[in-house]
Amino acid sequence: MKKIGITTTVPIEILLAAGYQPVDLNNVFITDPSPERLINIAERAGFPLNCCSWIKGIYGVCMDYGIDTILCVTTGDCSNTIMLMEVLKLKGLRVIPFAYPDQPDIQRMQYALETLAETLGTTLEDANRVRDELKSSRHLALKLDRLTWGQGLVSSWENHLWLVSTSDFNQDYHKYYHQLQKLLAECHQRQSYPTDWLRLAYIGVPSVYGQDLYRYLESNRARVVFNEIQRQFAMPKPGKSLAEQYSNYTYPYSIYQRLKDITTELERRQVDGVIHYVQAFCHRGIGDIIFRDGLKLPILTLEGNDDFFLTTHIKTRIEAFLDMVERSRQNLKYSQQAVV
Ligand code: SF4
Repeated sequence: MKKIGITTTVPIEILLAAGYQPVDLNNVFITDPSPERLINIAERAGFPLNCCSWIKGIYGVCMDYGIDTILCVTTGDCSNTIMLMEVLKLKGLRVIPFAYPDQPDIQRMQYALETLAETLGTTLEDANRVRDELKSSRHLALKLDRLTWGQGLVSSWENHLWLVSTSDFNQDYHKYYHQLQKLLAECHQRQSYPTDWLRLAYIGVPSVYGQDLYRYLESNRARVVFNEIQRQFAMPKPGKSLAEQYSNYTYPYSIYQRLKDITTELERRQVDGVIHYVQAFCHRGIGDIIFRDGLKLPILTLEGNDDFFLTTHIKTRIEAFLDMVERSRQNLKYSQQAVV
């Protein structure tokens, strides 16, 4: 299958139906042995220092991995992608724009999907057949999520990794399914995480720290039981049609859609504290104001740029935050006992 780069989660059912293999350029960037090298490619081409690392990384991947067809999301993801798209055109790549409707609306989504299918030379009927094929993999990813927060059998990092990978199913959804099935069988043989560990939520775009962040949290007896956007990639509310599925997907729309989903999950998963990750130079960082206003739990905002590991300064901030969350959990316990 011919590879098509994607700049974020898109209706991959249509791409697969059209005979393309979607490749999430973000995942290629962050798993490259040297992501700094990919950023350097972009900076040497003229991308400014104060441009988000993910955008530069995506550009570096396009140049270095020889992916010549890219589906760029122009509404519902990132304003920087619009200019990235223009630069990719300048470099001779085939660029296909895709715009999510500016609000979740099934009819408008249906139109956007039909337009994309027509551009790629396929139909929504074929895409729906692919949707059915992907169901079992999406179902397993969400099962892994339940085993994380419900039974404590899956690590914070595993939860992130398998959910974030549903954007392109690691470029092979059959293989993804079999590997995840094997992992879930292993998880059932494990001992659960201790119940007295702190329960955290991670909200915001995936971080540049990769497993370093999740492992560090666990080394401090704190687990991430909710990876917000990563879970959305797995399409937790598939609805009755592709148009419904991508209208229920919260990431492209108003931050208030996300807030509603986050609030429900924080309660359901009994979360003690929230880590909000923001990427340097990203417009989404401003949303921190809304999360701090709307969420009633302690929040740590972490900003990452192009350090792909946790610095001592960040580790100290995390430790101080975890101490504070632990204290507020204890205070809550005592006040509940007092009421009883
Ligand atoms: S982190 Fe923000 S600026 Fe960077 S690609 Fe994502 S949405 Fe765009």
